[in-house]
Amino acid sequence: MDGSMKKAIISGKQHAELVEMPIPHPKADWALVKMTVVPMCTEYKAWLHGPGASGRIPALGHEGLGEVVEVAQPCGVEVGDRVVLMGAGPCGRCAYCRAGDFLRCQNQVSYTGFTGEKEPTGAYAQYRLGAAWLLPTVPDDLSNDHAAMAWCGLGPTFGAMQSAHVDALDTVLITGAGPVGEGAIINAKFRGARVIVTELVPWRMERARLLGADAVLDAHDPDTLARIRGLTEGKLGVTCAIDCAGVTDSQRLCIDATRPKGSVCFVAESSDPLAITVSPDMLRKGLTLIGQWHFSLNDFDEIMRVIRGSGELLDLLISDRFPMSQVQEALALSASHQCGKIILDPWA
Ligand SMILES: [Zn+2]
Ligand SMILES: [Zn+2]
Repeated sequence: MDGSMKKAIISGKQHAELVEMPIPHPKADWALVKMTVVPMCTEYKAWLHGPGASGRIPALGHEGLGEVVEVAQPCGVEVGDRVVLMGAGPCGRCAYCRAGDFLRCQNQVSYTGFTGEKEPTGAYAQYRLGAAWLLPTVPDDLSNDHAAMAWCGLGPTFGAMQSAHVDALDTVLITGAGPVGEGAIINAKFRGARVIVTELVPWRMERARLLGADAVLDAHDPDTLARIRGLTEGKLGVTCAIDCAGVTDSQRLCIDATRPKGSVCFVAESSDPLAITVSPDMLRKGLTLIGQWHFSLNDFDEIMRVIRGSGELLDLLISDRFPMSQVQEALALSASHQCGKIILDPWA
């Protein structure tokens, strides 16, 4: 396909804009996807800090749903397929990729090296190239908006609950009710678990209640730990905690609020040191600590089942929509934390 398309870039501190670029060409087993729904994730952080000396961040976003419009050769997808974008660069051949755990791939393919594009393109774009094996097709009965929640909306905490085997016998603590934490509530309710949420922002506390959290506690409250324990059987603590806040206090709360032999999953990004003491936390308590970035590609059909069973809650998870031409306003809202998942329409 020839012609030009629009994509969003960050071109200054708290300044994003649309630019024109040539529509990229598919090559080998990479297909060209016309983007339909682009969920926003943590791009607001780069927007707040700005591009620095480079003056430009050319690739924004990593989530999206679209339609395959061009392939270079017969590959795993066909023109007309409705697909979820699952990232761009893993090799597809190593043991991690073959196991569906492609985010652990140590042989990342350079996007610009492979495609020949001058600079990388993210998901905030009208078209995007993707490796066919990372473009799973969406079942016909699911809407574009809902299916687009498979990646960072539901994916990280779905992966965590698969690893921790969360089910209806569990009481799950979710620290942080941002978009990832809200996705955690939906995943936990789908599995029938009891859900306790801690959060600071009133808007998000209210949204957590609407999503069906059984208890929503103020993370500022000095008695939060005791209150969590008080809500659990025998006051032993939760069976599973999932940190979706990414700050040391919330990570430590997860460890302290989890009962002996329970599981603690770290989902939110963080580079701050976290003190874990071997004897009280690990030997005597026997905790299982799980680092979960995302979900396995092999579980794609299962996450589609969660989406099929959670339609009304997904309509709450998706709090706002913007045309991509208003990316500046959308990023400002995202940075305000007064939102759940925000969707961009790249064609408006
Ligand atoms: Zn690999
Ligand atoms: Zn994301």
